[in-house]
Amino acid sequence: MTARIIDGKVIAADLRIKVAAEVQHLTTQHGLTPGLAVVLAGNNPASESYVGSKAKATKEAGMRSFDYRLPDSVGQSELLALVRKLNADPAVHGILVQLPLPKQIDAQAVLDAVDPAKDVDGFHPVNAGRLASGLPALAPCTPLGCVILAKTVHKSLAGLDAVVIGRSNIVGKPVTQLLLAENATVTITHSKTRDLPAVCRRADLLVAAIGRPEMVRGDWIKPGATVIDVGINRVPGENGKSKLVGDVAFAEAAQVAGAITPVPGGVGPMTIACLMVNTVRAACAIAGLPAPSV
Ligand code: NDP
Repeated sequence: MTARIIDGKVIAADLRIKVAAEVQHLTTQHGLTPGLAVVLAGNNPASESYVGSKAKATKEAGMRSFDYRLPDSVGQSELLALVRKLNADPAVHGILVQLPLPKQIDAQAVLDAVDPAKDVDGFHPVNAGRLASGLPALAPCTPLGCVILAKTVHKSLAGLDAVVIGRSNIVGKPVTQLLLAENATVTITHSKTRDLPAVCRRADLLVAAIGRPEMVRGDWIKPGATVIDVGINRVPGENGKSKLVGDVAFAEAAQVAGAITPVPGGVGPMTIACLMVNTVRAACAIAGLPAPSV
């Protein structure tokens, strides 16, 4: 068997077109232009690149982009003061504080200070708690993207045996909650799980969010299963250059799976598209408008 490749680039581009149409509708019909503020402290090159892509996507969707750059030496109180200013700014509907933060900063305290209504990263404990309680919430972007990708393969996830590898607050736990909300039967696994390959072989839907290059082998996969690979790992390539690989051994897995996401070009592009979705959802909720169609 050769798996169908789930093309995250195409699916994300389609989602961003839908977001842009929704933004145009909100702007023309309701005078509401969603705005996203991105806060970057320090000059980590990877973070600068992410922040640049997010600002570009925001503008392309017709939304307002607010960029805040702070020095690596920024203090806790200065960062908290900025977050509070953005919480109070009516033009800002989404606030994203780019992680990692400089070492002198208590990152959790900063994330906790973001108004949960504007928490488009979905990292605030209020949103995590609402998600776990089955209440409407702003859910983290990467997990949202994983579920959208899975739903391009399965019309319904109800009753599927889903296995999630990884229990981080950013990916593993929220993707588990989202799959549960879709009525999948979810098993969450981690570094202490016994006989992980055997657990994975039960999965109709396997989500790998581990951060270990190509750890999931072909013989861990149930024939015909859908595999969503969240991992982004930089490893040495053949010609002395580095390359990106996922947490799944793609070539082996593609021989067994029914559908699989590539790395790069799978989950990655969905994260920014879902950030755009969350910003529109936050803007509608703050303005008291019905939830958008995206
Ligand atoms: P974390 O390091 O926070 O979590 C990794 C999880 O994997 C932990 O729960 C850990 O278990 C588990 N784990 C580690 N080793 C093993 C093992 N040998 N067997 C079973 N489980 C194991 O990572 P993140 O969740 O933040 O990210 C995971 C991956 O996803 C990374 O490659 C990251 O780069 C990528 N990522 C991609 C994004 C995207 O946009 N596509 C966005 C976010 C992340 P334990 O809890 O027991 O330690």
